[in-house]
Amino acid sequence: MDCLFCKIANGEIPANIIYRDDLIVAFDDINPQAPQHKIIIPQKHIATLNDIHGEDNELIGHMVYCGTQIAKQLNIAKDGYRLVMNCNANGGQTVFHIHAHLLGGRHMEWPPG
Ligand code: 5GP
Ligand code: ZN
Repeated sequence: MDCLFCKIANGEIPANIIYRDDLIVAFDDINPQAPQHKIIIPQKHIATLNDIHGEDNELIGHMVYCGTQIAKQLNIAKDGYRLVMNCNANGGQTVFHIHAHLLGGRHMEWPPG
């Protein structure tokens, strides 16, 4: 499949991978928007949040849980961080393989731009 994040997951395209297990891969964002900016993806190709089905509940929960564990390892958990998923044009999604952004190391504004 011609998908950037599938290729990162299977090693065809290099990335600084910080965590991997049977279900997910986490790596540095190539264009960091904060002192810490990691991307967490499922190994399974799912194009957008609209394409998640009930059978994926455990997978999505695992992505979120791993995000919290990575935040603790990066020492950004206590100060706080943002774990976000963008969907389609209005959400600002540019890579169509679902992913969570883990952003930390600075104060985040709300509402987002
Ligand atoms: P989106 O805008 O879809 O929510 O987020 C896509 C993210 O993927 C962006 O933050 C972008 O910087 C990151 N990204 C795009 N291409 C690459 C790449 O080739 N390698 C890595 N590590 N990150 C990428
Ligand atoms: Zn994919």
